[in-house]
Amino acid sequence: MPHPILRFAPSPNGHLHLGHAYSALYTHFWAGRLGGTFLLRLEDTDPTRCKPEFADAIMEDLHWLGLAWPEPVMVQSERFDIYAAAAQRLHAHDLLYPCFCSRTEVHEHAIGADPDGAPLYGGTCRHLSPSEIDERLGRGDPVQYRLRGAEARALAGPLSFTVAGPTPLDRPQIRYARPELWGDVIIQRKGTPTSYHLAVVVDDAAQGITHVTRGRDMEPSTDIHVLLQMLLGLAQPLYTFHRLILDAEGKKLSKSKGSPTLRSLRQDGWSAEAIRREVGFD
Ligand code: GLU
Repeated sequence: MPHPILRFAPSPNGHLHLGHAYSALYTHFWAGRLGGTFLLRLEDTDPTRCKPEFADAIMEDLHWLGLAWPEPVMVQSERFDIYAAAAQRLHAHDLLYPCFCSRTEVHEHAIGADPDGAPLYGGTCRHLSPSEIDERLGRGDPVQYRLRGAEARALAGPLSFTVAGPTPLDRPQIRYARPELWGDVIIQRKGTPTSYHLAVVVDDAAQGITHVTRGRDMEPSTDIHVLLQMLLGLAQPLYTFHRLILDAEGKKLSKSKGSPTLRSLRQDGWSAEAIRREVGFD
């Protein structure tokens, strides 16, 4: 059994709320129970939304909650060359194609919705001719790269992953992955050499993560992660999907809905102990 390594991997695009506190405390708790290591990773690949001041605030909030982790912290924006090299391996197998569609075009030609409810890409750019691609690249049109989903799935074969839950100690169950539900996912976003999906699998492997612990809402994306792990020859961790902290209306907390942040609760007089108790880790 390898040394257990678990991670909390927030995106510094806002301040942490109670849902993040729960996920971080959950991961830290289970790293301790398994006799393993708890790592922090900053997933700041989106330069338009992530800010260094949010990264600093996240680390301060987590320390305030009583969490500690080994330094240096892995910061994804410092690793673009590594993601580019991973994407290059997919390019070399002709598994990626350039897509010049705007959000509106993707929406207009969608063939349904992916498991996150986002428009499922209709494949507009899948069969662009080499001369058209050259012309548009030469013109400097913003480009993203998508996975050739059907070809990638054929190459990878049937895929499954192992889920233990509600805690990493529970009896593991095999789940079959259904990457076809995601269509031709974006692997390299406009202006960056990666997407969330590519960076997360590359980094989980680079850090030797043995147990991925994340919210239940993220379970569907595992379909894509195991496909990429297979294509890139990366080890597959064990997955545990924890409960979500909900608001008074039973909805998931979120930055976009303006859920109270740990800092605002702290300013209102909440102690770290009270926060820990509130989410069940006293
Ligand atoms: N960075 C992602 C987020 O903040 C989560 C990372 C993961 O667990 O894969 O939503």
